[in-house]
Amino acid sequence: MSPNYDYIIAGAGAAGLSLLWHLSESSLSDRKILLVDRSFGVRSDKSWCFWDHDHPFSDWSAKQWSRLRVVSNDIVYSESLRQLRYHCLQSSEFSSRVLSRAKQSRTIDLLESDIQEFGRVNSLPCVSTDDGTFTAPWIFQSVFPKPGSTRLPTPLSLLQHFRGWEVETDHNLFDPEEAVLMDLDTLQRGGLTFFYLLPFTPKRALVEYTLFSAQPLKKRDYDEEIQNYLKRTFDLDDDHYTILRCEEGIIPMNDETPADNPIPGILNIGLSGRSAKASTGYAFSRIQRHCKQIVESLETDRNPPPLSGSPLRFRLYDLLLLYLLKHDVPASRQIFHQLFSQNSLETVLRFMDEKTHPGEDLSILASVPPGPFLHAIFQLRHRLKSELF
Ligand SMILES: Cc1cc2nc3c(=O)[nH]c(=O)nc-3n(C[C@H](O)[C@H](O)[C@H](O)COP(=O)(O)OP(=O)(O)OC[C@H]3O[C@@H](n4cnc5c(N)ncnc54)[C@H](O)[C@@H]3O)c2cc1C
Repeated sequence: MSPNYDYIIAGAGAAGLSLLWHLSESSLSDRKILLVDRSFGVRSDKSWCFWDHDHPFSDWSAKQWSRLRVVSNDIVYSESLRQLRYHCLQSSEFSSRVLSRAKQSRTIDLLESDIQEFGRVNSLPCVSTDDGTFTAPWIFQSVFPKPGSTRLPTPLSLLQHFRGWEVETDHNLFDPEEAVLMDLDTLQRGGLTFFYLLPFTPKRALVEYTLFSAQPLKKRDYDEEIQNYLKRTFDLDDDHYTILRCEEGIIPMNDETPADNPIPGILNIGLSGRSAKASTGYAFSRIQRHCKQIVESLETDRNPPPLSGSPLRFRLYDLLLLYLLKHDVPASRQIFHQLFSQNSLETVLRFMDEKTHPGEDLSILASVPPGPFLHAIFQLRHRLKSELF
């Protein structure tokens, strides 16, 4: 029996829509594709930030900044980026652009339906939905399971959890030319804790309260902290701003490596394909990298691969930093302070994107306190040995 489609993309979030876009820009743009999601309604529930000078979605971003600020130990580090730009892309903008293009295509079908399971039928991979079962030689899924949801936590697993408010103030208050990457001058609450501020205009900004810790907080605890931050930092009382929208999330930070889907012909993408960088939770740029790898493989008749793992040295840094983030919050707080005070922000961003060369890594490593890292190396010696050999 012939398959219903050339490709099925299950899940129309960051990964599914990115893959659809990369396919439509390739020599495979005439392939028959089914895109399934439980809802194609426009949701402005996520702001995806990334930095690059050559990113496919740079032009779609709500705002880009060429100046970044970090606040730590009462010191402000502000830097104009030379090559990189820090972008914020709203999920609503992204999905409406990709979906409106898909709706005009004669080869792409959109199916709004709940996905029940994946399997194989007539030796082809299939997706079963509330509206029927569909087959294709390749299915790309970002629906389930999300990493960390099926396994017991590993000794190095943490959560990056956050809640943010987009606020509009009744007077000019924010500097729209400068985004705050991290304001660490806040109570460290059972895990590295910081604020993040994206000013879109002098009156409108997204302010997020973020923690790297084991357990999410109650909604009202995040809200209380955001309210206090606005008062403390901008002397802003709640009768002088309106909350336009809220966004929240939990991103796994752990040492799990990208896993194959056990069903042949089905490939995990997005967070299901473990795209989040272990020690930062940033995933959007890695999702683009994976989508490009998939399309290049399909174009040359090769099997699309799971997301390629980080280079060994970056895996080792991630393990050590995760250990410290989990077991020694004061040391991790100090490491972040030193990282930002001793290195240019542009270099730190490239380091977080795993784009620095070994010489730059050495000077970054020399800038942070060695004691905690030596302790982490000792504690993780067996794990590090198994990674190395
Ligand atoms: C609020 C928020 C902000 C973030 N900000 C950043 C950032 O600034 N930078 C960064 O790099 N990363 C960020 N991330 C991390 C990561 O980039 C996002 O989580 C990203 O959305 C992951 O993409 P995904 O496709 O795996 O999942 P999603 O985007 O969540 O997409 C999954 C899709 O599957 C659909 N679905 C789920 N279950 C079913 C079902 N049973 N049937 C049918 N459809 C189903 C959902 O409707 C959804 O559309 C953020 C995450 C969150 C939550």
